[in-house]
Amino acid sequence: MTEPLLSVRDLQKRFAVRGGLFRRKVDEVHAVSGVSFDIAAGETLGLVGESGCGKSTTGRLILRLIEPSGGTVWFEGKDVTALDHNALGTLRRDMQIIFQDPFASLNPRMTVGSIIAEALIIHGLAKTRQAREDRVVELLETVGLNADHMRRFPHEFSGGQRQRIGIARALAVSPKLVVCDEPVSALDVSIQAQVVNLLEDLQEKFGLTFLFIAHDLSVVEHISDRVAVMYLGRIVEIATARELYTTPLHPYTEALLSAVPIPDPTLKRTRIMLKGDVPNPINPPSGCHFNTRCPIAKPDPCRTEVPPLREARPGHWVACHLRG
Ligand code: SF4
Repeated sequence: MTEPLLSVRDLQKRFAVRGGLFRRKVDEVHAVSGVSFDIAAGETLGLVGESGCGKSTTGRLILRLIEPSGGTVWFEGKDVTALDHNALGTLRRDMQIIFQDPFASLNPRMTVGSIIAEALIIHGLAKTRQAREDRVVELLETVGLNADHMRRFPHEFSGGQRQRIGIARALAVSPKLVVCDEPVSALDVSIQAQVVNLLEDLQEKFGLTFLFIAHDLSVVEHISDRVAVMYLGRIVEIATARELYTTPLHPYTEALLSAVPIPDPTLKRTRIMLKGDVPNPINPPSGCHFNTRCPIAKPDPCRTEVPPLREARPGHWVACHLRG
């Protein structure tokens, strides 16, 4: 990989669990535990895992929408975790986010034009009203909407159109990195492909870099150069998309992959049903967090030692005592 645009090192996030009459801290959830990865300029890294595995928290930590408990995030050589309020505001031009629920993330009382223009005003990118309006129209057309849409309100749009508005808002400041936080999960399957294709086109046109978060592997297969799989706050496997989909090493990745439909009806894939639910993150299993559901787990070392993420093949990293 060339010099990465983004480097995440040993990222940690612990949330306090509060209880009792005085809401005192009674425990901690380790939402993100020692996550590390790089993303090169122009690359798409897919980040996949079940709900509650820490993938969205990771996305928000990178942008410092929430504060990390430890670790560092380097963006173009700057340590994002060490920036003061002003420097962070400037950096936010380069790092944007597209949210999962396009309706909840758009202010229902603002017109679409005002929503998109807001970012231009905050960052001083269009000085006059006319310049702002021209830029808003340009952005709407870039995402497949039109100039008439700027005077309407979010509720007048379909889910797919609202996500296009969210994308236009993110693009308004000409970012380099976009965290796409489950951008198609709330959309009908028929619309999902259109939005993914739009993001791919925009990436090519503007040289964007994506962290693309999703809860299943089928969504990220098409768009990702590499894919990282998360389980209970840790990355368990990371590889090129081609290698991860053809020769997965981690038993959890295998299980996720077995649920992905294959377009060729002559090929069959045996579904691996994982036993039980994702364990409570307040009290995760010892050793390998996956040991309570893993079909090949052994008592020792799986329950006693945390498997380190190691390079099993060039560029293919896995955290498993028995694989790789
Ligand atoms: Fe399964 Fe053990 Fe590998 Fe964890 S370390 S994935 S429990 S085999």
